[in-house]
Amino acid sequence: MPGIVVVGAQWGDEGKGKVTDLLAERADLVIRFQGGNNAGHTIVRGDEVFKFHLIPSGILYPGKTCAVGNGVVVDPRVLTDEIDGLRRRGVDISGLRISANAHLIMPYHLLLDHAGEAKLGKLQIGTTRRGIGPCYADKAARLGIRMQDLLDEKILKQKIYAAMEPKRLTLRPFAKDPALDLHTMTEEYRRFGHRLEPYIADTPPLVWRALDDGGLVVFEGAQGTMLDIDHGTYPFVTSSNPVAGAACVGSGVGPKSIDEVWGVAKAYCTRVGAGPFPTELDDALGERIRKAGGEFGTTTGRARRTGWLDLVALRYACQVNGLTALAVTKLDVLTGLDPLYVATRYLGAEGATFEEFPYHQSVLHKTRGDLIELPGWREDISGARSIADLPRNAQAYLDFVSDFLGIPVATVGVGPARDAVIWTGAAERLRPAAAEA
Ligand code: GDP
Repeated sequence: MPGIVVVGAQWGDEGKGKVTDLLAERADLVIRFQGGNNAGHTIVRGDEVFKFHLIPSGILYPGKTCAVGNGVVVDPRVLTDEIDGLRRRGVDISGLRISANAHLIMPYHLLLDHAGEAKLGKLQIGTTRRGIGPCYADKAARLGIRMQDLLDEKILKQKIYAAMEPKRLTLRPFAKDPALDLHTMTEEYRRFGHRLEPYIADTPPLVWRALDDGGLVVFEGAQGTMLDIDHGTYPFVTSSNPVAGAACVGSGVGPKSIDEVWGVAKAYCTRVGAGPFPTELDDALGERIRKAGGEFGTTTGRARRTGWLDLVALRYACQVNGLTALAVTKLDVLTGLDPLYVATRYLGAEGATFEEFPYHQSVLHKTRGDLIELPGWREDISGARSIADLPRNAQAYLDFVSDFLGIPVATVGVGPARDAVIWTGAAERLRPAAAEA
C-alpha cells in the first residue's frame, strides 16, 4: 500500500477534509504536514457535524494513528479545546500524536498578526489573524518555541524571553496586555505541556514504520496550491507550503515514500480573502453558487468569493504538485446551472492571451478567464454512486476536465454526506469498506 498525499489544488476549502476522511478508513496512519488552525475541515457523519482545525480528520476512526507533523504550527489552546471537544463526544483519541518538533503559536504571535494587518490597511493580506504567519516567521528566524520545549520549564522561559525581546518595539502598544507577561505565559504553556505530554512524540519514525510495514499513509495538506508561499499568488498566500513537496519536509520522509498525489478541486472555484481570482463571478450567479455550495469559511465564517472552474490554474496545480489524480468535489452544486463555463486560458491587458499561469503578479492581476461554454444538467445527482449514474452532460464535464489536465478523476463528490461520493475505477482499491456496494 502506498503513501498518498492529499493537497488542495485551488485556493483552499476544496473539501480535502472529506477526501482525507474517506481515504483514512483504509489508512494505517494519517499525518498533517503544514499549516495551522487557519485550516478548517468539516466532516459529516450521519447527523453529526465535526469541525477540525488541527487534528487530522482520520481521528474519527477509533484508535487510528493520526499525527500532527513537524511542519504544522500548533496553537495549544486550540488543540486542547479540540481534544476536549472530541472527548466530550465520546471519540477515542488514543491514536493522536503530535510532533515534538512542531512549532507553537504564542500569544505574541496573535498580537503581531493583528498589528501587522492593521498596519497594512488597504493592502491587507486577509490573514485569519491566528498568529500563523508570525509563528512561521519565528521558526525561520530560529526564535520558535517547539512542542518539546513545553516539557522543560527553564528552557521554555528562556526561549520565550529570547523570542519576545526582538519584538519589544512592535509589541509596545500591547505592553499592558497580561498575556505578554513572561511568567504568566510560561506558566500557561507549562500547563498546556502537562496536558499534551501523552501525545507528544517523535513522529517521523511512526511514518517510516507504517510505510516499511506496507501500510497506507495519508499525508494531509491544508489550504491549497494557489495559496502556497512559493508557488501561489504571493503575497496573497498562506505562510507555509501547501504543495505536495512539503509533505516530505513536514512529516520527515523522502520523496520516494510518496506514490500518489491527489489534488482536491471543486467543480467550480472559490477564494477567501484578497488577491487575484481570474474566473471570479462578482454577481448574482456568484451569489447563487455561494448559497448552493455553502461557501462560508469553517474557521472564520467569512463569505468566500466564487467563480467558474479555472483550468489554467488547475493545470498549474497539476504541475507544481505532480498530481496523479483529481478528487472533484461539489459537482452537485453546479446542478441547475445551464450552461456552465470553464476557463481554458487567460485574457490579459492589451489583447494578451495566456495559456500558462502567469508568474508575474502585475500581469496576473489584470487577467480574466477566457471562458468556454459547456452544457449543464438539471437532474439531481446526489444519489449517483457511479459515473454511469450521472447525466450525460455531467459526465462530459468531468471528461473535459480530465482530458484538459491529462490526469484521471479518482473521486467525485455529489453531496456533503459521507457516502455522497463516486469512486471511479482509478481509485477503486482505496474505496472505504463502508462505501462498497
Ligand atoms: P476543506 O478545508 O478543504 O476540507 O474544505 P471545507 O471543509 O472548508 O469545505 C468543504 C465543505 O464542503 C464542507 O462543508 C463539506 O461538508 C462540503 N462538501 C464536501 N464535499 C462535498 C460535495 O461533494 N458536495 C457538497 N454539496 N458539499 C460537499
